[in-house]
Amino acid sequence: MKITLLGTGSPLPSATCAGPSTLVQADNQHILVDAGRSVVMRLLAAGCPPPFVSAVLLTHLHSDHISDLNDVITTRWIASPAATPLPIYGPIGTKKMVEGLLAMLSQDEGYRLAHHTDLRAAGGMKLEVHEIEAGHTFAIGGVSISVHSTDHRPVAPTIGFRIEHAGTVAALAGDTIPCEGLYGMCKDADFYVQTVIREDQVRALAPLVPTGARFLDIIDYHSTVQQAAQTATKCGVKTLVLTHFVPAIQPGGEAEWHAMAAEFFTGEIIIGPDLTFVEK
Ligand SMILES: [Zn+2]
Ligand SMILES: [Zn+2]
Repeated sequence: MKITLLGTGSPLPSATCAGPSTLVQADNQHILVDAGRSVVMRLLAAGCPPPFVSAVLLTHLHSDHISDLNDVITTRWIASPAATPLPIYGPIGTKKMVEGLLAMLSQDEGYRLAHHTDLRAAGGMKLEVHEIEAGHTFAIGGVSISVHSTDHRPVAPTIGFRIEHAGTVAALAGDTIPCEGLYGMCKDADFYVQTVIREDQVRALAPLVPTGARFLDIIDYHSTVQQAAQTATKCGVKTLVLTHFVPAIQPGGEAEWHAMAAEFFTGEIIIGPDLTFVEK
């Protein structure tokens, strides 16, 4: 199994970090978890053009995690030789969101259908949207996936994915604070991918920006670096992979983030730029 951090950014715009999205590859499947800003560029860089995406899994419907889903849908459609439906799995509300996206894309779809005979023959964009909840299980090829509840309130429902293949287990959490659902998902996982914030830096930056109060609000529904490390220890995971850096890591700043996590977790800690990957 190979896990690539396609985008390590957050809603905060960054010149170097794409929005949150992670690629999980196993059993010749290419599973995209979340689809943030510039995900298609990063898919290319990871050697996985959109037609190869087997399925999209969404942890929640916050804009930073879905902002370029439309690009994945359109590019996969027009670049695929055959009309292969794209399965999209997400929390309750995903159908409504995708219906809105398709409405936004309908004019473009019309232009392309009018222009390309073979696309027209295949009948347009094809999506299979599955709304899923904690306790559900499904498979993408030979990759088993179970759905777990997370806590990112007031955003609800939010979910995470425990992904297993050939004895390797990856837990992909999305935005959440530590909670029972998260602990169950991460139990003894080989890899635990967690979106994190630096509470100390958010508190330091808040007085300096005009939207400071809004900035402070984000502390209460994300795991801090330390909380992610504590979850990793509590759940006995082997490797902690941090992503969704709020704020973006300054050049050369990785060691400081690493040290904060290492205070609470003695296993392997992965922290790096977009396209950092782990493999087992
Ligand atoms: Zn987020
Ligand atoms: Zn979120």
